[in-house]
Amino acid sequence: MGILEFQVKSQFNKARTGLLKLKHGTVKTPELMPVATKATVKALTSDDLNEVGAQILICNTYHLMLQPNADVIAKMGGLHLFMNWDKPLVTDSGGFQAFSLGLGKEHAVGKMYFPGENYKQGKPLGKSIAKLNDKGIYFKSIYDNSRQFLSPEKSIKIQEKLGADMILVLDECTSPLSNKEYTKKSLERTHDWAKKCLDIHTTNQAIVGIVQGGHWNDLRKRSVKFIASLDFDGYAIGGSLGKSKKDMHNVLDWVMPFLPNNRPRHLLGIGVVEDIFASVERGIDLFDCVSPTRIARSGFSHISPPLGTNKNKFRIKISSIKYRSDQHPLDPNCKCKVCNNYSRAYINHLFKTNELLVFNLISYHNLFFMLELMREIRLSIDENSFQELKKKWLG
Ligand SMILES: [Zn+2]
Repeated sequence: MGILEFQVKSQFNKARTGLLKLKHGTVKTPELMPVATKATVKALTSDDLNEVGAQILICNTYHLMLQPNADVIAKMGGLHLFMNWDKPLVTDSGGFQAFSLGLGKEHAVGKMYFPGENYKQGKPLGKSIAKLNDKGIYFKSIYDNSRQFLSPEKSIKIQEKLGADMILVLDECTSPLSNKEYTKKSLERTHDWAKKCLDIHTTNQAIVGIVQGGHWNDLRKRSVKFIASLDFDGYAIGGSLGKSKKDMHNVLDWVMPFLPNNRPRHLLGIGVVEDIFASVERGIDLFDCVSPTRIARSGFSHISPPLGTNKNKFRIKISSIKYRSDQHPLDPNCKCKVCNNYSRAYINHLFKTNELLVFNLISYHNLFFMLELMREIRLSIDENSFQELKKKWLG
């Protein structure tokens, strides 16, 4: 199969470092994948991504199948050539969009909303534009309202055309507000789709199975046993992780013991500092998260301890008046190109004047910051100092 090798390098309790060898290179784990939804990490060039040390990116099948479409990308030589990225790439299956355009809209939640902790149930964000049945997902294109259909078979064939190193099976991502009965029914569908995806897959791309089951112990265990019994190259944990951080930790504690040690484990859609520490500690190898570049576009830049804390989410709002004539870099401890060359005052000015450069500068810094944290985490596992590092960041 596609993954040449996944080798666990060192282990500290359940946390581990590893080498994930893929067609386009070797990824040192644990690692956070920057999200290149539409074949671009917003506001950053390939050179930028190489400079911040990105090892692997994840692109979005739903968006790319609609625009430009898989045939255009295949004609251009595949995603790597199309977007000028010669290191490893992952594509997701489009399953997450069935949630964000469907139940997520109706329930007015993201899968990471953790309603129990800080969520006020709001009005629906709009009418669901995705419907599921056992055959697949029916949805309307957000680009031109055209009717679209994605089946397990179709998702795999599209991902084969796109040509990423690692592809994901089509699954149904349930909502934190889905009840147990619904989640159970959905699980059968997800398992059936996982088998179909594996059966139809013919290329030498690595293929990853996804564990679902919401925040119920028995459903998660049923799911992980089934998915781990299939010969996937890697395993991902997806779907709603419950209504609190505690639920999320429980899900990981239930699932991890059943996943084979010699395959990479990806926690889908997660990647803020606190969650990375909690998940690496439980044996997760791969993360993906839009947060570093998304918050950059609203003017938030990451800052390390002691100024950055879990309480301020390791970020400052650079548009604040207090940075108007601040000579310091975004993060005084950061060694990135932006922090070496520009002041908070300048970046504050760019943001205030809507200058496009600001998106590049903050996104660059935020990704460098997060990938530097991952480098520190890997080093700490290798040197048996993970707990000290965690304490330095989270207190
Ligand atoms: Zn920086």
